[in-house]
Amino acid sequence: MRTEVLVVGAGPAGITAAIQLKRSGIDTIIIEKDRVGGALLNAGWVENYPGFADGITGVDLVKLFQHHIDNVGVEIHHLEIERLTCDGDYYLALCSGGEEVRSKAVIIATGSTPNRLNVPGEIELEGRLVFHELRDLPENFGLNACIIGGGDAALLSTMRYH
Ligand SMILES: Cc1cc2nc3c(=O)[nH]c(=O)nc-3n(C[C@H](O)[C@H](O)[C@H](O)COP(=O)(O)OP(=O)(O)OC[C@H]3O[C@@H](n4cnc5c(N)ncnc54)[C@H](O)[C@@H]3O)c2cc1C
Repeated sequence: MRTEVLVVGAGPAGITAAIQLKRSGIDTIIIEKDRVGGALLNAGWVENYPGFADGITGVDLVKLFQHHIDNVGVEIHHLEIERLTCDGDYYLALCSGGEEVRSKAVIIATGSTPNRLNVPGEIELEGRLVFHELRDLPENFGLNACIIGGGDAALLSTMRYH
């Protein structure tokens, strides 16, 4: 693939950048390895976005983002960027599956990643019994869960799963 600007990450930052670039007539694509919306999907109730004085769920806000992206015509490709190099004239991003993206500029909007405990089993059980963000739990998960940490996500998890 070739584009003028490659945006890595379809969270609020990447989406905002891509919409603005596209509106300015600059060819732009987004590469997202997971879900459009990024960490905002975890926000139960968002009250600090202009235009939503009464609040909106993160999921609903992301739906509006998706609608805006579609309207503007920004392409999102679901791949993971594994390597980025620059030869002076252009950037070359190597994606999962071997796909390559050539671009004149790159915006890295990859957000933040949760701290891991680095305990045995954490990686093997990720997505089945261990979660590092708010997610819908698999059916038959049961009611016994241990939430480690005491920030926003922990408190929301307690309310959601209680
Ligand atoms: C529980 C909770 C509640 C919150 N509530 C609010 C709120 O009320 N109001 C508010 O303003 N903010 C809130 N936030 C914070 C808000 O979600 C973040 O500030 C925002 O999502 C950051 O946006 P971002 O685009 O920088 O990063 P992110 O949302 O983290 O998006 C980054 C994206 O990049 C992708 N990515 C990463 N690496 C790669 C790669 N190598 N290749 C391809 N894609 C990649 C990720 O999959 C992700 O989708 C909340 C967060 C949480 C967790």
